[in-house]
Amino acid sequence: MAEELRGGVPTASAAATAPGSAAPGSALATPGCALAIGAHPDDIEFGCGGTLAKWAAAGCRIVHLVLTDGSKGSWDPEQDPAELVAARREEQRAASRALGGTGEVVFLSWPDGELEAGLRQRVQVCSWIRRVRPDVVLGHDPWRRYRLHPDHRNAGFLTTDGIVAARDPHFFPELALPAHRPDALLLWEADEADHVEDVTGYEEAKLAGILAHASQHRSTMAIEEGDTGAQLAAFRSRLLGRLAASGKQAGVAYGEAFKLIQPL
Ligand SMILES: [Zn+2]
Repeated sequence: MAEELRGGVPTASAAATAPGSAAPGSALATPGCALAIGAHPDDIEFGCGGTLAKWAAAGCRIVHLVLTDGSKGSWDPEQDPAELVAARREEQRAASRALGGTGEVVFLSWPDGELEAGLRQRVQVCSWIRRVRPDVVLGHDPWRRYRLHPDHRNAGFLTTDGIVAARDPHFFPELALPAHRPDALLLWEADEADHVEDVTGYEEAKLAGILAHASQHRSTMAIEEGDTGAQLAAFRSRLLGRLAASGKQAGVAYGEAFKLIQPL
């Protein structure tokens, strides 16, 4: 993901407030527990790594729910998919720790590129929301216009639909898990961002979380294997430029922009 971070000049467009929408609000209170739901290993760090790092430092339990196995995340036609899946699991746990978490990651392991937003997947997402019982859920915005990757779109719908199912007791009673209604939902890469979390001081933790996904350095971050540091520096600069553009919307140095949906 994060195609725009492969190169070019960062713009404020990702964080820009759409005409007529509300100005970015102030930060949420630190939740006791946050559940981030991503299509692939690395999506969560790109989408909300700074926010999770800030909350983890303040004592919040952070849990990653990764919906696919990440088996198509390589440009190398000789790459063994099973080895890639295993490597990406370890990278995702390391990324959680880099953000200040404990490496608590749930993998649903649907085939990469083939994620569907159907009932079978929804019941799984619902069950994890009921088990983890997060105060805040974070995920992909399924309504982001011109989004190409179906996994990101479907992961977004599974997040919103999973919350609707989790919050009411008559949905999926066969799970035998008590209903749970989170307080708030934050959608990253939002079509109409209206909320910025100040992540100043946590930008390096976000970077560390992203860089933990070593198998993605080439395809997602434009950092080649023999990089002597210049490509890494360029990626860091693009990332900080993006965070600064989002932060500017809320008058802070570095920010992550979201669509906030509350109450749920
Ligand atoms: Zn992705």
